[in-house]
Amino acid sequence: MKRFYTIMVVLFIGATIAAVSVFRPQLWTPAFEISSVRYDVNADGSIDLIRWDLGGEVTLWEWDRNNDGRPELIGFDAVETTEGSLQPTGSITAWDWGADSVIDAGHVAPSIEQILQREEVAAARLALPSPDIALVGVDIRTLVTEIESSYDDFRLADLRMPIVGSTLPDLDTLLPGAARAYRNGIHQGFDMNNGHIGVPTAFSAPVVAAKDGTVIRAILDFTEMTPEEYAEAIATSRAAGTTPPHILDKLRGKQVWIDHGHEIVSRYVHLSGIASEIVEGKRVRAGDIIGFVGNSGTESAVNCGRSGAHLHFELRIDNRYFGEGMSRDEIREIGSRLLHASMR
Ligand SMILES: [Zn+2]
Repeated sequence: MKRFYTIMVVLFIGATIAAVSVFRPQLWTPAFEISSVRYDVNADGSIDLIRWDLGGEVTLWEWDRNNDGRPELIGFDAVETTEGSLQPTGSITAWDWGADSVIDAGHVAPSIEQILQREEVAAARLALPSPDIALVGVDIRTLVTEIESSYDDFRLADLRMPIVGSTLPDLDTLLPGAARAYRNGIHQGFDMNNGHIGVPTAFSAPVVAAKDGTVIRAILDFTEMTPEEYAEAIATSRAAGTTPPHILDKLRGKQVWIDHGHEIVSRYVHLSGIASEIVEGKRVRAGDIIGFVGNSGTESAVNCGRSGAHLHFELRIDNRYFGEGMSRDEIREIGSRLLHASMR
């Protein structure tokens, strides 16, 4: 705790000196030289990583992972010594830009964003020399890999299974990545079927939020396709060689989507009902009941049946489904760990 406050104070002082040294050179002697190197890690022609060297001793990193012009993370690799100087630590402590929390520490720090958005500091950062985009060397790739890894640990923390006490589904056909021949598509989530997840899941069994977040979609007024519309949707998918997104969405029936921040979204699909207070914009906590298991969107529901009820649960990371490109073993191993799934 104390260390992070110390770092924040040091950063504040450093940023203030940096800002003031640019605008008031006649009044202040800079405590250290500042230079920057800018990297295009994604190789898309835009800068996504900036390294600031403060006095050649310590480093401040800005990482704009999704190229939205705002860094997602700020990293700093120094502590203040008892003599009041900056000393490199050899490792980087990163801040989550949006939420002002410290990754790896679970500690909410004072607002680094406020410091970096101060007009004079922002202007100083713009005014500093910005050489051409640097080539990305091996050390930078290693660093980015480490940052990506700790970022994932941070944003994927505290997930849980959407059906209390359940395991991951036991059959490969119920996992993401499985083929769905009837619609010429690929399955994008976990099918939580009764008899396959370690706990009973009857029609209307409760479904809970996998993590704290905000409801961004709750289809309260879902109407099933007619049998004719369903047949046409399937025929269209077969002819297209894939399931078109608007058809896939309809086949998912009554859904709730929750945004957990940092491009992590969970989707709960084929629901029979949505909990009464669940509307778009609603904040939910992990474990809150958000809806009930059903079969909406499936062929049985289209024909007014109640068979085939299951929860389709999908975890999306950077707008890709969890499990994409993974082997079955990786899905089971990483999925169980991430979702804290019960083991059989
Ligand atoms: Zn499914």
